[in-house]
Amino acid sequence: MTGRIKFKDGIGYMSSERLDGAGGVVHAFLSRHGGVSAGEFATLNFDLRGGDRADDIERNKGKAGAAFGVTFDRLVNPVQVHGNAVVVLDAASVKSYKNVEADAVVTNVPGVPVGILTADCLPVLLYDPVKKAAGAAHAGWRGTLSDVCGRAVDAMKERFGSRPEDIIAALGPHIKPCCYCVSNDVYVAFEKAHGGGLPYFSRSGDSFMLDIGGANRISLVAAGLKEENIADVSVCASCEAADFFSYRKEGGRTGRQLSFIMVKR
Ligand SMILES: [Zn+2]
Repeated sequence: MTGRIKFKDGIGYMSSERLDGAGGVVHAFLSRHGGVSAGEFATLNFDLRGGDRADDIERNKGKAGAAFGVTFDRLVNPVQVHGNAVVVLDAASVKSYKNVEADAVVTNVPGVPVGILTADCLPVLLYDPVKKAAGAAHAGWRGTLSDVCGRAVDAMKERFGSRPEDIIAALGPHIKPCCYCVSNDVYVAFEKAHGGGLPYFSRSGDSFMLDIGGANRISLVAAGLKEENIADVSVCASCEAADFFSYRKEGGRTGRQLSFIMVKR
């Protein structure tokens, strides 16, 4: 353990002072510590798709829920597919929600935790303290290229009346440019979409190092957020694989950590 994470009832996590300071919301970027999953899923895995035992994931939900005072039975985390679809949960739609493919979820319903799972990809938590609306987005390079964070902000604007300048964003643990090497094809795809001079790529031999946090910071500012309202609590999930599941570091066989946010009742 690196000492960069905090513990609550044995559950390791990171959090944003900016989000905590806004009040009205519970959130955390959970680490891999404090659960009961075994093997490559040790220990606080939340992902059923990788092959972990369903019972262990339920126990992980129970332990983390007890630590943070959140009922994870009500957790809404869509089936992530590296796209830019956004699930919108309001008082009506939350009642009939069935799990769907999407990479962001936003809500203004108090007491409903929304979250996303990651192992290297960037988790982004959003909160509008004026309209009491929150969201979570999952941004790998494909989601970043299709502006999943901008779509989530747009959904909060259109469905909850949020003003982007009121929204606070927190970027969580993800693979950083020290470790995130991508092919020339990825660079070309971004160049096609945004033109040249992309400050979040740096060349490394035949490949590029990608600063996915930096790229999403630009997306969030383009969506109307104030630079000073974007907090970055992140560490490199790959460098810190002792504390966080890292898909790349662990050769693809690993769990997924949960990042969640919930509007308080
Ligand atoms: Zn690193």
